Amino acid sequence: MELMNVKAIIDELKAGRSVSDAELEALLATEDADAVSYLAACAREVREKIYGKAVYIRGLIEFTNYCKNSCYYCGINCKNAKADRYRLSDEEILDCVREGYELGFRTFVLQGGEDPFYTDDKIISLIREIKSMHPDCAVTLSIGEKSEASYRAFFEAGADRYLLRHETASPEHYAKLHPGDLSFENRMNCLKTLRKIGFQVGCGMMVGSPYQTTQNLIADLRFISEFKPDMCGIGPFIPHKDTIFKNEPQGGLQLTLKLLSIIRLLVPDVLLPATTALGTIDPEGREKGLRHGANVVMPNLSPVNVRAKYAIYDGKICTGSESAECIKCLSARVKAAGYEIVVDRGDHKKMFVAE
Ligand code: SAH
Repeated sequence: MELMNVKAIIDELKAGRSVSDAELEALLATEDADAVSYLAACAREVREKIYGKAVYIRGLIEFTNYCKNSCYYCGINCKNAKADRYRLSDEEILDCVREGYELGFRTFVLQGGEDPFYTDDKIISLIREIKSMHPDCAVTLSIGEKSEASYRAFFEAGADRYLLRHETASPEHYAKLHPGDLSFENRMNCLKTLRKIGFQVGCGMMVGSPYQTTQNLIADLRFISEFKPDMCGIGPFIPHKDTIFKNEPQGGLQLTLKLLSIIRLLVPDVLLPATTALGTIDPEGREKGLRHGANVVMPNLSPVNVRAKYAIYDGKICTGSESAECIKCLSARVKAAGYEIVVDRGDHKKMFVAE
């Protein structure tokens, strides 16, 4: 498609009008530098209109790498006998929160494998502890698929947000990334349930995951634009050496950046992280993400001695430095990209109400 046409597609997206699958395909395929930089400029404009230059920080606490699932892409899947497993104690988790608060974090993300050791009661007491220590902070959970009753109990205990990437909006593709005991339907139902309960909800997918087609990505964009998540986490797929996908190529930088920009235009008020995976495939990946419409970063607050063990993919950055060092480095990066980290819960500035 001609350059003019691609720019016209970007204008349509920016104006909130619908575009066809063929148009999305043309946009995803274009390598024209002018069109791509126009897309990024539009994404920045939309992001700055709503969120200004603010970048929200989320303190990520990876509290367990035990997992009962065996997602084919993930390095901490239960079939990986080489994973060096760990669990953080309540005290260790709360220490991370204390330190994070001092450093300016007002959102804490508890992320882990699906680890039955952390019963609902344990999670609930952690949520209560954090909320009573710091009532001005948001607690985000990212602990996978649970029952409606569990989700409800977490919400009632004070959890504010839940991240559960949909991974792919195409059932056939989902089945190629997950074993038979995990279902596309259940994952999608979990997202709907979380929203119904009242959580701010984050979905998302990997870019360039094995077997992913352009049509799959278009389905992801359609899903995101319809679901209108509060947050949307996307990052490149990166192979892990001890998984069956070890020889698969990693996701592309340019495609990931383009998708960030498109998602910003599709859901203008979305909270969009420049992910660690993006920073892993390119030394300036996160800065580039911010310059393509992202407005969130999620530095690691986990104790340094476990960081390398939360190895969902190879080569993960920031596994060696203390939290204080990490936030210093990241602040400089955010500034270099033309933005500013703020001390704020960074709630979703909702402009659109999902149906
Ligand atoms: N157990 C939780 C958290 C999963 S880890 C859950 O099920 O939601 C968070 C995200 O990391 C996953 O949702 C997945 O999209 C991403 N991820 C896993 N393996 C990856 C890989 N090899 N490359 C890039 N991202 C990966």
